Amino acid sequence: MLSFKYKCSLCDLEYEISPELMLCPDCSLKQKPRQPLNGVLEVELSGTLKSENPLDFLPVDRNFFPSIPVGNTPLWHPKNLSAKVGLSELFLKDDGVNPTGSFKDRASFLVAAFARKYQIKEIVVASTGNAGSSMAGVGAAAGLKVKLFLPKNAPPAKMIQSLQYGAEVVIAEKNYDQAFSLSLEYSKLYGGLNRNTAYNPMTIEGKKTISFELLQQLKKEPDHIFVSVGDGVIISGIYKGFRDLLKLDLIKNIPVIHGIQASGSSAIYRAMKSGFFDFSPSKTVADSISVDVPSNGLLAKKNLENYGGHCILVTDEEILLAQKELSSTCGLFSEPASATAYAGLLKQKELINKNETCVVLLTGNGLKDIKSANKKIIIPKNSINSLEHLVPIGKGD
Ligand SMILES: *Cc1c(COP(=O)(O)O)cnc(C)c1O
Repeated sequence: MLSFKYKCSLCDLEYEISPELMLCPDCSLKQKPRQPLNGVLEVELSGTLKSENPLDFLPVDRNFFPSIPVGNTPLWHPKNLSAKVGLSELFLKDDGVNPTGSFKDRASFLVAAFARKYQIKEIVVASTGNAGSSMAGVGAAAGLKVKLFLPKNAPPAKMIQSLQYGAEVVIAEKNYDQAFSLSLEYSKLYGGLNRNTAYNPMTIEGKKTISFELLQQLKKEPDHIFVSVGDGVIISGIYKGFRDLLKLDLIKNIPVIHGIQASGSSAIYRAMKSGFFDFSPSKTVADSISVDVPSNGLLAKKNLENYGGHCILVTDEEILLAQKELSSTCGLFSEPASATAYAGLLKQKELINKNETCVVLLTGNGLKDIKSANKKIIIPKNSINSLEHLVPIGKGD
């Protein structure tokens, strides 16, 4: 049997799990403006359990899970790419095949189950796009109402997707950081369960299922994992999963995790260099990791430092080229924030032994942002009426 508590990631104080509690009451009092959240809570697991199913290690019972197939995503070996980059044990984990097309479904799934357990009917969430569309879709499957705060510049596909699922969408005039504060204000005033990433502890906990799945699929822990970083919740979820597995005696080592940020949105990278979080407005083609103030910055940085992880930067150009290369060599069409992980692998590959097991975690489907994907392709200008002037396949320039 397993039991669960909350534990503050800053002061280590423990609390009973409850829907009223989001941040450590002590540490959150010391919150400064334009800084990552203080007092993010993590779920602390104790006990033992014999199970093959990653979902059995979550702090909400199975009967509250919405009936939508989140997770259990394919892990595969891309032969062409593996030969091209010279790494024999290269794997892609495609979380773009989740029901709403992104990794965010892992968090939304647990948040929805948690809301059902406590009979909460409305979820409030701020998002650059994917967390919102994910909560909208998974929420729809769970019979929940979703109020979504999106920044004005969110890619249209993500907003349309959310409206299709039936979410109520509010558009914040400025950016994601503004949407984040407005949504917190809203849920304090009008109630509902807030799903904001890192603020709601179930977001980190839901994302840990990836580590359990990787162990299940590879039959061992990988040596390296590459993942893009925005707010720093996915990376903390991965560490949380491997920490649980270590505690349960199911693995020996925590993999080396490479967190990749866009050079135009590099708050965690900068903080790892300088020791503190400075503020700088972000600008990158990878909208899903475009974050001025990473809400889970403190915990992401602490995890990377404690477990010998790396944080590196890639440019927008490198991201777009990585996106195109993944599509054209593997048939895996990924949104820019997702392809960022592969751009990071290309940067780090000299540090890796050829036969070490590397997993590139792909977090979002390419169709979510066709405007960016359009940048590295050429759409034919002219239409034709006959084959008269057409050049045969492979003979064109
Ligand atoms: C949210 C997101 C990320 C980054 O996750 P964080 O938890 O914010 O670091 C990466 N890729 C995609 C596609 C995302 O939607």
